[in-house]
Amino acid sequence: MKIPLMDVTRQYETIEQELTERVTGVLKSGKYIMGEQVRSFEQEFADYIGVKYAIAVGNGTDALVIALRAAEIGPGDEVITTAMSFFATAEAISAVGAVPVFVDCRKDTYTLDPDQIEERITERTKAVIPVHLYGQCADMERISQIAQKHQLLVIEDAAQAAGAEYGEKKAGAMGHMGCFSFFPTKNLGCAGDGGMITTDSEEFAKKCRAYRVHGSGEDGRFIYENQQMCPIEQMDFHGHLPKYFNFVVGYNSRLDEIQAAILRVKLRYLEEWNQRRILLAKRYDEGIKNEGVKKPFHRTDGKHIYYTYVIGVEDRDGLQEALKEQGIASGTYFPVPLHLQKVYTNLGYQRGDMPNAEYVADHSLAIPMFAELQEQEQELVIRTVNAWM
Ligand SMILES: *Cc1c(COP(=O)(O)O)cnc(C)c1O
Repeated sequence: MKIPLMDVTRQYETIEQELTERVTGVLKSGKYIMGEQVRSFEQEFADYIGVKYAIAVGNGTDALVIALRAAEIGPGDEVITTAMSFFATAEAISAVGAVPVFVDCRKDTYTLDPDQIEERITERTKAVIPVHLYGQCADMERISQIAQKHQLLVIEDAAQAAGAEYGEKKAGAMGHMGCFSFFPTKNLGCAGDGGMITTDSEEFAKKCRAYRVHGSGEDGRFIYENQQMCPIEQMDFHGHLPKYFNFVVGYNSRLDEIQAAILRVKLRYLEEWNQRRILLAKRYDEGIKNEGVKKPFHRTDGKHIYYTYVIGVEDRDGLQEALKEQGIASGTYFPVPLHLQKVYTNLGYQRGDMPNAEYVADHSLAIPMFAELQEQEQELVIRTVNAWM
């Protein structure tokens, strides 16, 4: 038996017919970019998350970059984020010319430790990016309180948390903006790259829409007028397409119609798939009895959707090897904490600065987790983990 860590083909098989119909429909329509599918998906996703606006973009990294640009964060600014995340979280901050300032993650949830934010705030700090790691929300209440006190923006990195909840709200509906990734293996994934920004702010929504299409058209003009602090007198596109009039330097970062059509189908199954992940996680929680294994901690005031199920073990590589011998795949999220990535050597962090993030990097192991994982497969994973010393 070969048990994958995640398996997107099994999910495809369960909805193959629906997807084929939708994708064929798009192919026949001849409308491949920014059409009806994207518009409808934006509306459906906004409704699902519980926000006013959703702006589809090319991928999750771009969602972060564009959200930061919309927040007018750039050179000279600092953004506080967690040391334990995928590189894109920090990369987006650097990409707009700002400096990522790392804080350690919590020892239990591995999400950004709110107690460490205030000591890192300077007069240059503009925003905080909490990451809803592994499908569990960060401490949004505390983080939002601190941000409000210091007039900082909160941009949620919800790339691993489509459908996760904290209190009454969904991930992506708590900060000023929320950023999602539809990379194929994410818990809501398309058949390529895709991303989304969610917000309740009309101003941020307009700015994001402008930045994703080269800063052009009416939305680009909105940014320009804002920056110049005066309206452009009698702007006239002279009958030409507004998209050929550029007001700020943006990006080409759009979701295409085929991906949107696929995501519209999948969004209808998301709750069901997330519930299944939660059930599988419960089985792991109950079945794993090895004393040497630290099981994931889930907060009681939120809904963890288990994008990954991550355990902690002293001899991580040993367990990984034992699983491999049984044909069971496992993974490390993430082997290098952001403050120790080579690219950030110049920021001056050292090993020992972020002990919790370093613990995760050295001792955490993700075991198979996806909605279509079979019970007998999970049994073998549990037995192998329990038998390992
Ligand atoms: C996947 C991911 C991203 C980036 O998404 P892409 O679509 O791959 O660009 C950003 N942040 C986190 C936490 C992620 O897991």
